[in-house]
Amino acid sequence: SDQNEDLRALIRTIPDFPKPGIMFRDVTSLLADAAGLRATVARMAAPWEDKGIDKVIGLEARGFILGGAVAYHLGAGFVPVRKAGKLPGKVVTQDYALEYGSATFELHEDSIAPGETVLIVDDLLATGGTAEAGITLLERLGACIAGCSFVVDLPDLGGAARLRALGMDVHTLVA
Ligand code: 5GP
Repeated sequence: SDQNEDLRALIRTIPDFPKPGIMFRDVTSLLADAAGLRATVARMAAPWEDKGIDKVIGLEARGFILGGAVAYHLGAGFVPVRKAGKLPGKVVTQDYALEYGSATFELHEDSIAPGETVLIVDDLLATGGTAEAGITLLERLGACIAGCSFVVDLPDLGGAARLRALGMDVHTLVA
């Protein structure tokens, strides 16, 4: 939306990455800008200030950067959802589809107590498959998912509609 034009202007688009034909929205240029980073974190957190968020869930890897900052801003804890083989404790595991192939996410099974309220954070929402894998893991642990917050939405890929169909409250800053 127009109110986040300052943030959109800081996100680079790099053609043909990681494959020919893909226009990659690169948020590293936004993260590197001091005012841009501060405003991004504040605006991602704003809708959830009074929602009793116990823990922010960051999706590997750019969700760690934004999720850690949003957790600090909200006074919540931070919990990572990681690619398979990275977490040292007992985990729950979920496979998910990528544009080409598949991947596996893991979450420490003792990282969320049943009934705790959580917020999912990542940099970008495309098809929603990545976020849905995180949702599946959190539901397996009995988490109460308040919603999902992203910097960028690619609406043509349908991720927001997909997550809303699962009952999720979805918040994004720029399309
Ligand atoms: P989805 O599962 O929604 O189709 O894809 C979203 C995931 O892929 C997120 O973890 C996101 O970081 C990554 N991703 C896909 N396309 C892009 C892109 O153009 N830019 C960035 N920064 N991440 C992307």
